[in-house]
Amino acid sequence: MKVLVTGGAGYIGSAVVQRLIAGGDEVVVFDNLSQGHRAALHPRAAFLEGDLADRAAIDAALAAHPVEGILHFASHTLVGESMEHPFRHLGNNVRCGLNLLESAVEHGVRRFILSSTANLFGLPDRIPIDEGTTIAPGSPYGESKFILERMLHWMDDRFGMRYAALRYFNACGAVSPDLGEDHDPETHLIPLVLQVALGQREQVTVFGDDYDTPDGTCVRDYVHVADLAEAHVLALHALEGGSRTYNLGSGTGFSVREVIETCRQVTGHSIPAVVGPRRPGDPAVLVAASDRIRAELGWAPRYDDLRAIVESAWAWHQSHPHGYAGRTPS
Ligand code: UDP
Repeated sequence: MKVLVTGGAGYIGSAVVQRLIAGGDEVVVFDNLSQGHRAALHPRAAFLEGDLADRAAIDAALAAHPVEGILHFASHTLVGESMEHPFRHLGNNVRCGLNLLESAVEHGVRRFILSSTANLFGLPDRIPIDEGTTIAPGSPYGESKFILERMLHWMDDRFGMRYAALRYFNACGAVSPDLGEDHDPETHLIPLVLQVALGQREQVTVFGDDYDTPDGTCVRDYVHVADLAEAHVLALHALEGGSRTYNLGSGTGFSVREVIETCRQVTGHSIPAVVGPRRPGDPAVLVAASDRIRAELGWAPRYDDLRAIVESAWAWHQSHPHGYAGRTPS
């Protein structure tokens, strides 16, 4: 299948591009490189540098590259930032998503995969979180993804566009030592902890240890980016059977302290940790029930072991201590 991948130079997008190409699909990446990295582009993917705010650029891309499907990753994704600058997320994510959908419909694209989020569930009323859990977005970022999910519902209803909304829990790990996580600023737990092991930070701050969890720190469902990539490919090729929505997590929760301890074991570094205040908006526990995608598509995450996840991330951070910017030619 020939597909367009927006945000294909980003962390999750580039992992999916690699998996698509390995499976024989043809890929065109559309990315403005504001957060993505040129060095993360797959050598066998066509690359169009462009911005989804520019409707004409999307039209030109789809006119030049007739594709059967679109996988949409490009977006602002920082929960905390979206609370401070709601219009940045709501405006950008919704406007750009709408541009992309309008152009997709006009160019006859009838398959669409949306990168969505567990933030749709805010402070969830039950754990594990399945697709029937009440939607109550925890931030403008989560709301922007929910608006896109709703727009897709109507694209299906009105135009027969088949879509999959994939709600990620905590994406982490690296596909290979050459393809990993490089955000600026970095806000995610595992990369921050590994940066301490690299000597780039003095310590990690645990955001609260008075939660109602076994060790008092927040519990999250860490899902490997290669497993996420597999889910996208399965979903893309299953769309003939109709639109679908899936929660994507490994189904196992680990606390912040468990993550730090695992990073100590993997790196051999003492990784000093101090306890700080809670981060606003953080629920105590977020763990996915991914039974639906397992049953319907046979998705079986290969990494349900935190140690293996951290090992893959550590291999990436060691070979790219400064991310893609410090990449040495191989
Ligand atoms: N966290 C932390 N210290 C940090 C960064 C994150 O204690 O420096 C915690 C955060 O409060 C959450 C978990 O680690 O409970 C995972 O946070 P992350 O930002 O990686 O992902 P999120 O759960 O927000 O999607």
